[in-house]
Amino acid sequence: MIESTDSLTLALSKGRILEDTLPMLARMGVEPVEDPLVSRRLVFPTNHDNLRLLVIRATDVPTFVAHGAADVGIAGKDVLLEHGGAGLYEPLDLDIARCRLMVAGYPGALERAGNRPLRVATKYVETARAWFARQGRQVEVVKLYGSMELAPIVGLADVIVDLVDTGGTLKANGLEAFETIEHISSRLVVNKASMKMKHAGIDSLLQAFASARQAAA
Ligand code: AMP
Repeated sequence: MIESTDSLTLALSKGRILEDTLPMLARMGVEPVEDPLVSRRLVFPTNHDNLRLLVIRATDVPTFVAHGAADVGIAGKDVLLEHGGAGLYEPLDLDIARCRLMVAGYPGALERAGNRPLRVATKYVETARAWFARQGRQVEVVKLYGSMELAPIVGLADVIVDLVDTGGTLKANGLEAFETIEHISSRLVVNKASMKMKHAGIDSLLQAFASARQAAA
């Protein structure tokens, strides 16, 4: 039960994360006016007068929350790593949309590149650079926005850095996973000013999410 006199805006990530978030909101007794999986609305009032939802691209959630356009957000750890997390608190791991951020390619791709810079295709440019820098490996990063698995197939890159869940997409394309960069799940993030100014409301929302997470475990 969410008890808030503060009006709160919660930013949700579209796609796989949204599918896992909606059952959680239902367990918390939060009902959007329309089904976000079907509706083309961007803003969803809910049955709680003081709570509205925004449904936006996953990569935009940290930006909306850091700028205070939303008080609270739900974002994948992959997106938060890439964003850097400035202006955000990350108080709760919701344990949904779990997967791994991995380096993958054709078998033997890392060895075949020898000592030349490894060409890496990814949308996680900063995270990939930091990972290979820690390994002492020189890289040329090619930024893509989707279908990373295609890059090694067409010779655009030696390897990719992408999310892997079942491994089915890699397998279907003859690729294999080499290394895990990070275990990923979705996190609740909170705007730092909102945390101070709307403490009671945000605390109530956090408690409700924590209970809903436990109920699912
Ligand atoms: P899979 O074939 O199950 O390993 O899933 C891999 C594909 O789904 C890749 O294209 C990933 O980018 C995407 N994917 C996997 N897990 C997630 C997630 N938690 N959130 C968003 N996309 C994901």
